[in-house]
Parts: sequence; C-alpha cells; structure tokens
Amino acid sequence: METILEITDLRVHFPGRGGAPVRAVDGVSLHIAPGETLGLVGESGCGKSTIANAAVGLLAPTSGRIVVAGTDIAGASPRVLREVRAQVQMVFQDPITSLNPRMTIGTAIGESLLVRGRAAGAALRARVGELLQEVGLRPDHADRYPHQFSGGQRQRVVIARALALRPALLVCDEAVSALDVSVRAQILNLLVALQARYGMAMLFVSHDLAVVRHVCDRVAVMYLGQLAEIAPRDALFAAPRHPYTQALIAAVPDPDPAVQRARVSVPLVGEIPSPANPPPGCRFHTRCPVAVSRCAVDVPALRSVGAAMVACHLA
Ligand code: SF4
Repeated sequence: METILEITDLRVHFPGRGGAPVRAVDGVSLHIAPGETLGLVGESGCGKSTIANAAVGLLAPTSGRIVVAGTDIAGASPRVLREVRAQVQMVFQDPITSLNPRMTIGTAIGESLLVRGRAAGAALRARVGELLQEVGLRPDHADRYPHQFSGGQRQRVVIARALALRPALLVCDEAVSALDVSVRAQILNLLVALQARYGMAMLFVSHDLAVVRHVCDRVAVMYLGQLAEIAPRDALFAAPRHPYTQALIAAVPDPDPAVQRARVSVPLVGEIPSPANPPPGCRFHTRCPVAVSRCAVDVPALRSVGAAMVACHLA
C-alpha cells in the first residue's frame, strides 16, 4: 500500500521529575495514504501533538520509525530533513505566534520559495499573490503585517505559507481551536477545498470530535500515549468499539436521531493519569466503566474488529 506517512512503533519519552520518563507516545503505529485525512483525537496530554511534531521532524523520537514520502526521518541528517520538510508542512493552533510580527505576510509566504530557489523577483510576487487568492485573501494583502489581519485571516496566511511548496502532507495541530465558531467553519471548509484541489494528505490533530468528523476519512483515538481505536470515520461515529471512544463520542450530539438513540452511553469520569506513571494492564482501566479484573493486568493488543482496530479485551 502506498503511504505518505508511515509511523511504526513510535516512542517519544521525555525526562521526568523524579527519574521516571514521561511516556508521551508509547508504541504507536499508523499510516496515511496519499490524499487521505487522518484525524488524531484524545484528551489534552494524550500524545497527539507529540506525534504531529515528530511527523514533521520537530521532535526526535526515542525509538521507532517515521517514514515521510519514502524517507525515514528518525535520525536523518539536517540535509535530508530539509528536503523532507518540502513534502510535509505544519499549521499550528495560534497563527499570531506562527508569524513574525515584523515581516510582511508576502515575505512570510514567499520565504520558502525564495530560500529553495523556486521563485524570485516578479515571479515570486506573482506566486505569493496566487497563494493569497487560493486561501481567500487578495494579492495586495502581501504588503501588510500580521497585526493588520483578524485571527481567521492570519490562519489563512499560515495555510498559504504551508502550501507554498505544494506539500504532500499537511499536519494541522489544533489548527482551528483558537478561532471563533463561525470562522472555524470557514477555515475547515477552506482546508477541505484545498485538499480536494491539490490532493495532499492531512494529519488533523484535534480534541474536538465534531471538527474531526467534518474533515477526516479515518480517525485514530489516543489515550495516554497509545492508540485505543482507529477506524474509518463513519464506522467510528456510528459504532465506536472502545469504551473510551464511546465516551468521547457520547459527549458530542449526533445530527441523526436514530444514531443518537442507538448509542451506548458511557460517561467518562476522573482525570487522565500521568504519562510518567501509566496504570498497568489497559491504561484506561482506572476510568473504564466496563473494566473487568484482567484489565488491570493484561495489556490489550490493538486488533481488527470489523472495520476498526481496537485495543480492548471486550471489543
Ligand atoms: Fe475497559 Fe478493559 Fe477494554 Fe480497557 S480493556 S477499555 S479497561 S474493558
């Protein structure tokens, strides 16, 4: 199978207080096909943003493989990483901190094209104008500075900058979380339209399942550094298999009353444990409303259940 991103047994551990490592990501494998959008969801601290940062080479993994467009970036040289970065770009949550306040947005958008020798002078300015139009802004906006735009417009600028090198993979880390609800929908629709136009793949990290449902083909659910479930979007929302996925989805009303009625309601209680001291057995057992005795001892393997892969003894 052709993939644009292939992550195998990824572990990202950080030094923790008291000597125990913080296991931010602890044995995650996933892939994204060209043109596909994979949603990565879970509560704050589950490791989803760590995976996003590792996928673009901003974080070195403790172990495991991260293959982007055929190149293993784990341990790659700066020269190789630089080449791969043309293939994979990132959109962060906060556009104001992603942009240099003293740089016009035209300069920011064109910088990667100029540095890589892809365009200069009038051709560069024309290309920046096209990119601005592609994200719903005007070519003459190029001479303005970030503070002269609204939050939604600034995120459009960041998306234009990310698209400049025509990446094969766009990694969006909570890319609409800081925006007003109405603006959020506009930016999501823009991302969906740009993806349809250019066929790029997306890794879409979000804590908001409604947002993920809107844009993703498949969804991976993370809990405490590991995958709980990964499934095609419609299968996941219609029939979530893992109790944690069920709890997350139960908190989001379904537009279809029949689906809403058929849902298994599993309330999620308690706080997510520390990734420096994860519970033994199934990491979810301390919060799972249907846990049985073996859950505190045996680690559930991720296995095929229908269209999904699920890590639960009872699925
Ligand atoms: Fe709950 Fe046990 Fe399944 Fe873990 S393995 S999700 S504790 S039932």
